[in-house]
Amino acid sequence: MERTLSIVKPDGVSKSLIGEVIKRFEGNGLKVIGLKMIHLDKKEAEGFYAVHRGKAFFESLTTFMSSGPCVVMVLEGDAAISKTRELMGATDPQKAEEGTLRRQFASNIERNIVHGSDAVETAAFEIKYFFNALEIFSD
Ligand code: UDP
Ligand code: MG
Repeated sequence: MERTLSIVKPDGVSKSLIGEVIKRFEGNGLKVIGLKMIHLDKKEAEGFYAVHRGKAFFESLTTFMSSGPCVVMVLEGDAAISKTRELMGATDPQKAEEGTLRRQFASNIERNIVHGSDAVETAAFEIKYFFNALEIFSD
């Protein structure tokens, strides 16, 4: 069993894709064990994406991520991290596999509708960034 953090980004929320994203995850063996809607401010977006500070896309990315509400969720299941990323597809929707969320719905490499943690350590950091122990429901 593994946990990961996923976000329906502001573009995904504005395109009414909250249900679609959750349906893909739940339909593929992932359990939603934490869920909320939040509007990040710029500083909070910068803290979440701290690993990307200094990169060319950082300023634009954090402005985008603080431009509207997102849905953040904790997912649990076997190989939850890789499974979530497989369902999302590559960062750049043009390079994403057919049938993946990003290939199907993303506008471009920045506005790619969904986030998923990329490793066990980053998942732990990202889950803690948004959820406390009382907000996670696991048997
Ligand atoms: N991003 C971007 N331009 C790039 C690479 C990434 O705008 O050249 C954005 C995009 O929204 C991506 C996020 O920054 O989802 C984080 O980048 P990362 O490389 O971690 O991609 P991910 O793990 O989300 O696939
Ligand atoms: Mg990443």
